Amino acid sequence: MSKSLIVQKYGGTSLGTLERIECVADRIVKLRKTGVDIVVVVSAMAGETDKLLKMARSLSKNPARREIDMLLSSGERISSALLTLALQSRGIPALSMTGRQIGLQTDSTHTRARIKSIDAQRARKMLKENHVIVVAGFQGINEEGDVTTLGRGGSDTSAVALAVALGARQCEICTDVDGVYTADPRLVPQARRLDVVSYDEMLEMASLGAKVLQIRCVEFAHKYKMPLLVKSSFKERDKGTLICEEDPKMEQPVVSGIMCDKNQAKITLKEVPDQPGIAANIFEPLASASISVDMIIQNVSEQGHTDLSFTLEREELNEAMVIMKKVAKKIHATHVSSDAKIAKLSIVGAGMRSHAGVAAQIFKTLSAHKINILMISTSEIKVSCIIEQKNSKLAVTALHDIFKLENKPVKKNAKNKTAKKMSAV
Ligand code: ADP
Ligand code: ASP
Ligand code: MG
Repeated sequence: MSKSLIVQKYGGTSLGTLERIECVADRIVKLRKTGVDIVVVVSAMAGETDKLLKMARSLSKNPARREIDMLLSSGERISSALLTLALQSRGIPALSMTGRQIGLQTDSTHTRARIKSIDAQRARKMLKENHVIVVAGFQGINEEGDVTTLGRGGSDTSAVALAVALGARQCEICTDVDGVYTADPRLVPQARRLDVVSYDEMLEMASLGAKVLQIRCVEFAHKYKMPLLVKSSFKERDKGTLICEEDPKMEQPVVSGIMCDKNQAKITLKEVPDQPGIAANIFEPLASASISVDMIIQNVSEQGHTDLSFTLEREELNEAMVIMKKVAKKIHATHVSSDAKIAKLSIVGAGMRSHAGVAAQIFKTLSAHKINILMISTSEIKVSCIIEQKNSKLAVTALHDIFKLENKPVKKNAKNKTAKKMSAV
């Protein structure tokens, strides 16, 4: 009978120093003693990716994405080799592998490539030979054999994809928090850890700024029904947060979490002639440059002209502005402007499907705190508002409060039943 396999991913902070790498190696030794096969996926050491990006940008204003991939992939190679050495010196037969060696094939969209396939033959052979495999996350190769990377936070996705390809029983994301919280615990200290989150909710949370998981990793896990456990790299016995299929028998909380994405920017085109084909003229060049647009708002047309605003990731603002200036000329818009001091505030909860009034409550709370809403968008289980970045903390704290998400201490003599009820609200 084949042993069961666990894929564990360790993030940058968890591997940030040689001491931390030693601690991770000790954890892997303990896990191996339980008799499971282990594949470890590692991120670059904390700060390494940013440091490399800064170096590239100091040499080139608009560095070629292919070269960025070549550069950034080295961060994960370093940590995989270091962790492997730490494991070997503990008597564990471990081997490090790059994206290429693990057979991770992607498309050619440099800096945010999508995984196409994994040829896991070699990994299977190594596991059979009793090795622990330490994979450099975040990277693969395209058809030409060039190195690609999977976008910021991409090691999460490498881990899930490998877990699926190798038939792991679970994929564990080990990080510097002990699970997924009702809000970023760094922003809202009273945030509460969630025991279980559905794939749908986690997808929304990840795409709305809960950077604890990369969105594609959640998409992948959902598609292949791979259970994901987010847990601490530091605390051994924590429960973590399980991300899995929604249990239809359980009542879903109306609001599970509040996210705030400060990595957003807004572009506005003024006095755009209101004619058929204009939107296509604006958004097609952005799509061709692989720039994703998020919220779009078009004002009511006045005298044949309208204003149009949209949001996108801040990192792509400069590239998008170059494109928009050309487009504005072509479509005779009078003015293009950008605003990088915005934030996207989002409230997510599967229970919103059956509860009315959540949006109204959000707007009322923001208004009570004199926070202006610049844009709004909703889906079945979320409401998002664009606000000024300076109001982020106030807005998240106020909403966390109004929806009673805080971590209330359970009274000593309270029965278990009450505790369960409280955590389900
Ligand atoms: P890693 O380096 O391990 O990949 P990340 O920095 O990518 O870690 O993600 C972990 C961070 O995500 C935490 O330190 C926390 O500040 C942040 N975070 C944002 N939103 C949430 C949330 N809702 N729950 C937990 N962590 C969150
Ligand atoms: N090192 C990459 C980043 O900082 C990938 C990752 O950590 O998952 O985004
Ligand atoms: Mg991460």
